Amino acid sequence: MTEFAHLRHGMVDVQLARRGIRDRRVLNVMKQIPREQFVEPGFEEFAYEDGALPIANGQTISQPYIVALMTEAAELKPPDKVLEVGTGSGYAAAVASRLAKTVHTIERHEDLARVAAGRLAALGYDNCIVHTGDGTRGLLEAAPFDAILVAAGGPIVPDALKRQLSIGGRLVIPVGDSEQEQSLLRITRWSDTEYDEETFGAVRFVPLIGEQGWAEDGTRSASNHVPGRTHFRSLTEMIGAAVEPLPSFCDPDFGALFDRFAHSRVVLLGEASHGTSEFYQARAAITRHLIEKHGFTTVAVEAGLA
Ligand code: SAH
Repeated sequence: MTEFAHLRHGMVDVQLARRGIRDRRVLNVMKQIPREQFVEPGFEEFAYEDGALPIANGQTISQPYIVALMTEAAELKPPDKVLEVGTGSGYAAAVASRLAKTVHTIERHEDLARVAAGRLAALGYDNCIVHTGDGTRGLLEAAPFDAILVAAGGPIVPDALKRQLSIGGRLVIPVGDSEQEQSLLRITRWSDTEYDEETFGAVRFVPLIGEQGWAEDGTRSASNHVPGRTHFRSLTEMIGAAVEPLPSFCDPDFGALFDRFAHSRVVLLGEASHGTSEFYQARAAITRHLIEKHGFTTVAVEAGLA
């Protein structure tokens, strides 16, 4: 095995499998794709580190774990037609291309798109088609898509992307009110008008810039502008926007709020409100729900068992 292949296998075992990526197809593909060929010259030795790396135009090639998480969430199947928004280096498109039939990938920076297209062609990823443009508008000429993966974070879910999903299609996209942090969402289309939304936790992506994303200067773009508000908000406002009302502990909906952790391998509960009776009741209700509904098998406690 070459040194890069050795590092690649280690990356898949340590950074992906042990962190909860379970889809064997995703793990196997990521053992094959030579990430060292997608980083900037001189960065090859860091290609299998646990992080994003800089590429041209101030952009990044995403952390391997994030690529795996998004690809797994998109549930790609061999006949699928996929759209990726944010080609960057082309790495995530290459991963998707080995799990689906066709990958259209769109990049707003023309020079990044050109380099990625040349690289993907040279490495033989012939089912990847690179486009230049604003991916927040989707790619009408190739729609509908079985899956859409967005590799940059915007303030809203662009309507065009929802409308360009096939029925049963999955849109995986980081969305957040600040450029510093987003929630990774999976939106599944069930009919012309019905969509489901699931959350996969907090992530941090480069900004999605375009008609349905951020403007170049960091404010909301005209078409999704909320009058009198920019995305720069006080801490109090951000906490106010993030808090969620909780039903009472005995209400089954209480535990259901924690379904968002169903895919996690480890869930840590508590701390800030430690010692209150509400803390113990909430901990019991959440733990019961995760065991009964999601098959959690081990509870490790570093607290009193009140
Ligand atoms: N998937 C890439 C990650 C690239 S980072 C990889 O594996 O390397 C995200 C990319 O999204 C950047 O290159 C950025 O230029 C691009 N981007 C941001 N907004 C965009 C938009 N509206 N349309 C298309 N690309 C966009």
